[in-house]
Amino acid sequence: MSDVKKIAVLPGDGIGPEIIAEARKVLELVGEKTGTAFEFTEGLIGGAAIDATGNPFPEETQELVKASDAVMLGAVGGPKWEGLDYAIRPERGLLGLRATLGAFANLRPAKIYDELVDASTLKKEVIEGVDIMVVRELTGGIYFGEPKGVEVLADGSKKGFNTLVYTTPEIERIAKIAFDVARQRGRKVCSVDKANVLECTELWRDVVTDVHKDYKDVELSHMYVDNAAMQLIRNPKQFDVIVTTNMFGDILSDAASMLTGSIGMLPSASMGGMVGIYEPIHGSAPDIAGQGKANPIATIMSAAMMLKYAFAMDDAYDDIDNAVIAVLGKGFRTPDIMQEGGTEVTCSKMGELILNELT
Ligand code: NAD
Repeated sequence: MSDVKKIAVLPGDGIGPEIIAEARKVLELVGEKTGTAFEFTEGLIGGAAIDATGNPFPEETQELVKASDAVMLGAVGGPKWEGLDYAIRPERGLLGLRATLGAFANLRPAKIYDELVDASTLKKEVIEGVDIMVVRELTGGIYFGEPKGVEVLADGSKKGFNTLVYTTPEIERIAKIAFDVARQRGRKVCSVDKANVLECTELWRDVVTDVHKDYKDVELSHMYVDNAAMQLIRNPKQFDVIVTTNMFGDILSDAASMLTGSIGMLPSASMGGMVGIYEPIHGSAPDIAGQGKANPIATIMSAAMMLKYAFAMDDAYDDIDNAVIAVLGKGFRTPDIMQEGGTEVTCSKMGELILNELT
C-alpha cells in the first residue's frame, strides 16, 4: 500500500449520498488531524449507475474498486428500479462488488450505546454493556452450494433442495479473521454450528478447533445455533466475537443488531478479499431520502471500521466512537432514535455535531 490511501466512494441511491457525505467529512478531518493522505474517488453503483450507464456495476466502477485500498458504500436500490429484470437490478451491483473483491468475511458489530439503552425492546439490565462482533462467512455455504433448485417429481409433486458445503480452506480463512478480530477486542470467540446434526458443520467445528492452535491467547467455545439464538436474547453480554456460517450468520447478526434498537446505528465491514467494503447494514431508505431524516451514524461508524481494519488506525476509530457517544450523551437525535427530552437534528446536523466533537 502506498502512502496515499485510496478510498473508492460509492454513494449509491436513496439516502446513500446524504449519509456518505457526512462519513466522508469525518474521514477528511481524521486525515487532517493524523497527517494521513486519503484520496477519495467517487464511483457509480446501483440505480444511479443504471440511470447513467444501464449497468448497476459498470466497468469503470469495477476498475476503481480494484485499484483502491478500501471501498466506502452507501446503499443501493429503490422503487424506481423495482420493475427491472433481476439481472440488472441495483442489488446486482452489490453482489457484483462483493464477488469482484472476494469479500468473504462480514463483520457486524452490535454495540449498545448507554445513551440509547432505552431504544431496545429488551430490558436495560440484559443489554447494558453489550458489545458483540458477528463474523459471518459471506461467499460460501448453503446460499451458494450446488446442486440447488426445484424439480418436478414423477408423481407431479415438487422437490426443492439446496446444498450446504464448506471446504477446509474456506473455514480456515474465516476462523483466522475471527481470531484476529478477537485479539483486537475481548479475546473470546464463540463458534456457532449445528455439529450435532449437520456433518458439514462438524467439519466446521473441527477446523475452527485446529486453527485455534495458533491463537492460544484467545478463548474458544462452541455453541449450537439454536442455543446461540436463545443465548443472544437471554444473556447477550456473554459474547465477544461470534463466528459462523453464511446462513446462521445472516440470521444471528440480524437478531444481534436489533438488540441495539435502530438500524440507522449499525455499521459493517466485508473483508478478507482483495479490498474491504465498509457500509451501513441498512438499505437506501427511499421513504426518507432527500428529507434530512437519515441517521448517518451507521455510515460514520463504517468509516471508523475502515480506519481500524483497513488502515490499522485504532485510535482514530476510538476517537470517532467517543465523538458519537458524546453527541448522543448531549441528547442529539435523528428522528429514528428520537426519545423524550432529546433534541431532534437532521442528517447533516448530526454529521456536523460529530465533526465538532472530533475537532
Ligand atoms: P431500508 O433499510 O432501506 O429501510 C428500512 C426502514 O429503516 C425504513 O423505514 C427506513 O426509513 C429506515 N432506515 C434505514 N436506514 C435508516 C437510517 N440511516 N436512518 C433512519 N432510518 C433508516 O430497507 P428497505 O426499506 O427494505 O429497502 C429499501 C431499498 O434498499 C430496497 O431497494 C432494498 O433492496 C435496498 N436495500 C439495500 C441494501 C444495501 O444497499 N446494502 C440493504 C438492504 C436493502
